[in-house]
Amino acid sequence: MQRILVLGGGFAGLWSAIGAARKLDELGIGPDRVEVTLVSASPWHSIRVRNYEAELDGTRLPLDGVLGPIGVRRVEAAVTGIDFQRRQVACAGLSDALPYDRLVFALGSQLARPPIPGLAEHAFDVDTYDAAQRLNRHIAGLPQRKPSPGRNTVLVIGGGLTGIEAATEMPVKLRAALGEGASWKVILADHKQWIGSDMGDEARPVIAEAMRALGIEGRPGVSITAVDATGVTLASGERIPAETVVWCAGMQANPLTKLFPVERDRFGRLPVAPDLKVLGMAAEFAAGDVAWFAVDGHKSCVMSCQHGRPMGRYAGHNVVADLFGEPMLPLNIDWYVTVLDLGAWGALYTTGWDRNVRTTGAAAKLTKQTINHQRIYPPLNGSRDDLLAAAAPTVQAPPAVRS
Ligand SMILES: Cc1cc2nc3c(=O)[nH]c(=O)nc-3n(C[C@H](O)[C@H](O)[C@H](O)COP(=O)(O)OP(=O)(O)OC[C@H]3O[C@@H](n4cnc5c(N)ncnc54)[C@H](O)[C@@H]3O)c2cc1C
Repeated sequence: MQRILVLGGGFAGLWSAIGAARKLDELGIGPDRVEVTLVSASPWHSIRVRNYEAELDGTRLPLDGVLGPIGVRRVEAAVTGIDFQRRQVACAGLSDALPYDRLVFALGSQLARPPIPGLAEHAFDVDTYDAAQRLNRHIAGLPQRKPSPGRNTVLVIGGGLTGIEAATEMPVKLRAALGEGASWKVILADHKQWIGSDMGDEARPVIAEAMRALGIEGRPGVSITAVDATGVTLASGERIPAETVVWCAGMQANPLTKLFPVERDRFGRLPVAPDLKVLGMAAEFAAGDVAWFAVDGHKSCVMSCQHGRPMGRYAGHNVVADLFGEPMLPLNIDWYVTVLDLGAWGALYTTGWDRNVRTTGAAAKLTKQTINHQRIYPPLNGSRDDLLAAAAPTVQAPPAVRS
């Protein structure tokens, strides 16, 4: 019996497991010869990109609903170590290590939390489903709190994509909690010179227009030095009263990437070849936010489900191909898009690494909704054939431009 072990049940891990099952099926190899096991600390597949939304129902799918029909075993445990010599993985609470012949490492990323006093205790975030639920419950509970200067103020820190989505969705949440006509404030702060500085000159004015229309105040060029229960202190000494502080500043690859004897990039990611095998390793592949390579031969892949899902499909295909001496397929994605939610104002759809604006407002929102509710979900009808077909190692076309 040979063993394929996939670590992680996010976009990269889930699609790696389905991709491996698909390739085994294609080769006519049954579970008596190769066992595929997915290890995740959570029994859920989280549609993590939706964690900024007001409504989180349907953003977590039981992994078993997908893995069951394709015969992938699931182990619920937190990975703690990897012995690359013996080819086995240690997990908290499991007395026996899990052996592997081929490994896909897909343990994702975490919000970077610098040691700012009070940040860990007082700030909310939208990094995980649980954190997003906690934030939404807190917002819904604002009317029960004592009136204070910062009670109805939400300060989102981090003017990148996640911070912009978290801030622009906030008016919807505040109106629902406080009632129409109640006064509230949403501030989006960043230490950089611009909100959405990575979005480029063409897209930034669209973000600014949406923020103006939604009544969101931008505070670029500020640096937070302390957070407490009633607000934040800036490096200038200024106080911003805000009983809701949402930290959205940066992602780091899972710290378990440190286990690998390779040089990681500044995000802590492992270098992989286009076939997703970790450079210099014999049996270990990596996919999703833990891995980087030049996705079109030039540009590094981005920590995103846009890249994590195809990386997973190819990693799954390639672990099986590698195990059976079949040719591995290189992943090459020659397009890049950004579809940014801008709350009730709509959305912004850009194409290319320079982020040229294609559609805005309601038209872009239709694209965003199709992505968030359909495109990134696995088939949910329990059909083995549909699941295996969806994991084919091909690159999807970009999301349709809607009008
Ligand atoms: C609010 C928000 C909005 C986003 N918007 C977009 C967007 O619009 N477009 C886009 O492309 N990307 C977006 N992203 C980024 C995207 O969500 C990530 O890039 C994507 O989730 C990465 O997939 P992954 O499988 O590599 O990792 P993850 O989704 O992080 O999955 C990691 C998996 O590993 C498991 N795990 C972690 N540690 C352990 C351990 N020690 N032991 C066992 N299991 C473990 C976790 O439970 C999880 O199943 C957004 C992210 C956030 C937070």
